[in-house]
Amino acid sequence: MSEMERTLAIIKPDAIARRIAGEILSIIEQNGFRIRAMRMLRLDRAGAEGFYAVHRGKPFFPELVEFMTEGPIIVLALEREDAIKKWREVMGATNPANAAEGTIRKRFGESIQRNCVHGSDAPETARFELGYFFRELDLV
Ligand code: ATP
Ligand code: MG
Repeated sequence: MSEMERTLAIIKPDAIARRIAGEILSIIEQNGFRIRAMRMLRLDRAGAEGFYAVHRGKPFFPELVEFMTEGPIIVLALEREDAIKKWREVMGATNPANAAEGTIRKRFGESIQRNCVHGSDAPETARFELGYFFRELDLV
């Protein structure tokens, strides 16, 4: 049996503004994830730059920070077997144009930037990202 694993998911500002957050939460539950923590907040510039620090210096970084601070986001700690890989499968490829049928980004994503959701990409990243938004005591 594979291990329970946690990953950090974000419902990005584009999805909140378009009022599809509820639909995305529903997809999360339908795909077997347990929501262990959830919070709505608005990142400021430093908060977005810190979260996406690995992308600092890339051409899309300034616009990414602009986008992630344009409105509130919902951050979630998700748990299930193989959560990191499974959540990335449910999200689909970064660019909605390349995402598989039925994935969140294929269904709802508007562009490579405005792609509705985020997911951690490895155990090390998940640890950093979960800790960025949640304290151990917040995880229920
Ligand atoms: P995320 O980290 O948000 O889950 P990802 O791992 O699929 O997405 P990354 O390569 O980590 O993709 O990029 C982080 C985010 O930066 C993307 O989700 C997207 O919003 C934005 N982004 C990535 N590449 C580009 C690009 N070429 N042009 C514009 N925005 C981009
Ligand atoms: Mg990423």
